[in-house]
Amino acid sequence: MTGVLQQRREVEATPGVVRVEAWSEFEWLRAGFSTRQGGGSVAYGAGEQNLGWTGEDDTATVAENRRRFVAEVSGEREVALVTVRQLHGGVVQVVRRGGAALETAEGKAVLQGDGLITGERGLMLGIQTADCVPVLVADTRKRVVGGFHAGWKGTLAGIAGVGVEAMVREFGARPEDFVAAIGPSIGPCCFAVGEEVRRQFEERFGDAGELFAVGDGGQIFGDLWEANRRQLVEAGVRAEAITVVGECSACARLEDGRRRYFSYRAERGVTGRMMSVIGVVEG
Ligand SMILES: [Zn+2]
Repeated sequence: MTGVLQQRREVEATPGVVRVEAWSEFEWLRAGFSTRQGGGSVAYGAGEQNLGWTGEDDTATVAENRRRFVAEVSGEREVALVTVRQLHGGVVQVVRRGGAALETAEGKAVLQGDGLITGERGLMLGIQTADCVPVLVADTRKRVVGGFHAGWKGTLAGIAGVGVEAMVREFGARPEDFVAAIGPSIGPCCFAVGEEVRRQFEERFGDAGELFAVGDGGQIFGDLWEANRRQLVEAGVRAEAITVVGECSACARLEDGRRRYFSYRAERGVTGRMMSVIGVVEG
């Protein structure tokens, strides 16, 4: 019996997930960031967990990867996943049950924007990335949650701060009750940018000078983790309530050398997608 179970586990590896340790005290809160391993995709490497509808992977495999990942994080066998058509901007959508359909028959997102917030129970919000910064936020008093997609353009648009403000406005939440996590994404080690990107940040943020460093060869590197952390603090989230996972999607490796995450930059656009999910499963 044991042998059969072990064999099965080898074939169907557990979906890779990075959880926020500090959140384990909140039993009602379910959240996690996916890693590359533990799925059925073969498009970018065998046994991988691609969670995006990419051109190279097949739809049925991605759908099954999504179902298994959401079940792993939520602890629920069947729980609704709500995603958004991401546009690299600063628009946040409020997810409410009973309105218009939130996805197509094929499971594709209907809503457009770069943030989702909800006070509903029993559904998971999903943000897709492959280098961009996923930011997850929860109000521990009102049990309202949000997920935000902050690439450099979304960060420039202030999506994390806009998201916190939307949670306050829509649900009467208080930022001092929030916990937040900045997930695996391209780090200051690998996020090389041109002068024009730094200039745009300098025009918008007074402290932008502290978000960029110049390497030995004169290359400019940006720190999107710190930029988003500062936006959360600026919006009223307590600094000690923010977890920065601090793993770089472009250079983090497993012990055997395989990539731990999908990286759009490092793999020149031909790669899968991670998903970051957050939800409240019980009232
Ligand atoms: Zn890196």
